[in-house]
Amino acid sequence: MCTTRIEGRAVAYQVKWSERARRLRISVSAEGVTVTLPRGYAARDAERFMQENAGWVDGQLKRVERARQKQARQTLPKDVILLRGKPTQVKVVIEPDRKSRALIHEAAGRLQVHLPEGAKGKKGEVVEKALREIARSELERAVAAYARVMHVNPGSVTVRDQRTRWGSCSTRGTLSFNWRLIMAPPEVLNYVVVHELSHLVEPNHSPAFWKVVAHVYPTYREARLWLKRNTGLLRPNLN
Ligand SMILES: [Zn+2]
Repeated sequence: MCTTRIEGRAVAYQVKWSERARRLRISVSAEGVTVTLPRGYAARDAERFMQENAGWVDGQLKRVERARQKQARQTLPKDVILLRGKPTQVKVVIEPDRKSRALIHEAAGRLQVHLPEGAKGKKGEVVEKALREIARSELERAVAAYARVMHVNPGSVTVRDQRTRWGSCSTRGTLSFNWRLIMAPPEVLNYVVVHELSHLVEPNHSPAFWKVVAHVYPTYREARLWLKRNTGLLRPNLN
């Protein structure tokens, strides 16, 4: 395996020699990058060829990555949701003896929902309510932790279901978060918390604002990208 740098990142590739190849060729697939060389070429020719075609290789790598993301979205099976970024099976147990209250508990990568006989169709509602509660406690914890680090004084924290926003910060310092963030990996939830707390320092999205974010959360770009790419995973059909 060889490595070269393309657009600032290390790209590993394999070199193959082929009797039949007439010219140098690069292939990019989910399996990886391969440079095929005709007889008589040296490995360093592969490196040079990769560099000459860096723009094309970069585009192909992005295409493969997009396809992988799309596939990941499509293959989240029925009754599986993301919880803290991990696929979690939602299991419903109907209990004829259970009176009225539904119960939900989380164990070993599973979310078990106990429902009374009459509430069979209420799974989605029960799961959402439970996730909102988990989201609230984890968001409050993250807000408190980062507020300490950032020396800011936020107001109260509310948890909602905004259609298009992950969080917001009012002029009075009240923070709102989307409960669906509990489905995202913790580093994504933490980024959104840092983002909103940073608005207590810089209310706008100026370069100064992003400097505050980057100072506290250097990997914020990855988190933003994750949110952009996986929004669909955070809106599962819970019924
Ligand atoms: Zn903002």
